[in-house]
Amino acid sequence: MLECVGYGATAASTPVAPFSFNRRDPGPDDVVIKIAYCGVCHSDLHQVRNEWRNTVYPCVPGHEIVGHIVAVGKNVTKFHEGEAAGVGCMVGSCRTCAACKEGLENYCEVGFNATYNGVDPIIGGPTFGGYSDSIVVDQHFVLKIPEGMDLAATAPLLCAGITTYSPLKHWGAGPGKKVGIVGLGGLGHMGLKIAHAMGAHTVLFTTSAGKTEDAKKLGADEVVISKDPAAMAAQGETFDFILDTVAADHPIDAYLGLLKRDGTLCQVGAPENPLSIAVFSVIWRRRSFAGSLIGGIPETQEMLDFCAKHGLVADIEMIAMDKIEDAYARMLKSDVKYRFVIDMATLPKAA
Ligand SMILES: [Zn+2]
Ligand SMILES: [Zn+2]
Repeated sequence: MLECVGYGATAASTPVAPFSFNRRDPGPDDVVIKIAYCGVCHSDLHQVRNEWRNTVYPCVPGHEIVGHIVAVGKNVTKFHEGEAAGVGCMVGSCRTCAACKEGLENYCEVGFNATYNGVDPIIGGPTFGGYSDSIVVDQHFVLKIPEGMDLAATAPLLCAGITTYSPLKHWGAGPGKKVGIVGLGGLGHMGLKIAHAMGAHTVLFTTSAGKTEDAKKLGADEVVISKDPAAMAAQGETFDFILDTVAADHPIDAYLGLLKRDGTLCQVGAPENPLSIAVFSVIWRRRSFAGSLIGGIPETQEMLDFCAKHGLVADIEMIAMDKIEDAYARMLKSDVKYRFVIDMATLPKAA
């Protein structure tokens, strides 16, 4: 077994704290990555506090992982030692269903194996995520980090980047298209950068006027204060696509009403309670209300290559591992621009 140190939670009510654990010995198809940085996703907080009521403890979160390869199994052809590599939300899938064969492992028909709170296929027990010194992953689920990318600022691309890239690509964001991004948090700020780089006319919707300047710097062509009915009405029915990243309850009809005929609103933020929609909002112009879940492995690599080509990374605030609970508290107040990233050099050597 590979002995690891990290930070994890042993129950929903206990803070994330130093934790020692074992990972499987690397097999012939595995890559061992020494983790340099791990992004802090809102899912980490939901999972450690059992807010989705499915957490298996102990729980070591983290699915925005970057680092360097320190060992490869004998069947590994895609990677070599010393190379920079990343791991996102998945570490396994059936590899045989129609979705997996299309490279859409995120939609695996039997369910993908999650980077944390999944099940290790060799040793059983939960998979442990990136708040740790190293990780063992099948090469199929490891991503190449293009040369020259800032490693720490690349970490959030593995979840926030692909979660926004995939729907923007799927619904054709590009030149001649008008795209809305709702919310300027971890997801929204990446959605904004990517939609702008794809060449779409990009409009950010936010409730706070204080975010206007930032949004423009990040790539917004226009910023609309969504609480202002006149500003919303002034947009008319002009959007081809709107990507909604907001995870709190909010009125969807106001956004559906801004779509052109056949336009789509895609939800990637996941509010806890069901959203209500006036059905005429979609009947009226044959509009669609849709959702999207991260992206497949080939598309995640494509996203990293796209971001490298366009010089895109996340805007981050680096934290030491022992500041994770403070980071969670600030995240709940949206007090971060725009993603926390943990510097794994700050991990204790033993837990
Ligand atoms: Zn995430
Ligand atoms: Zn599958």
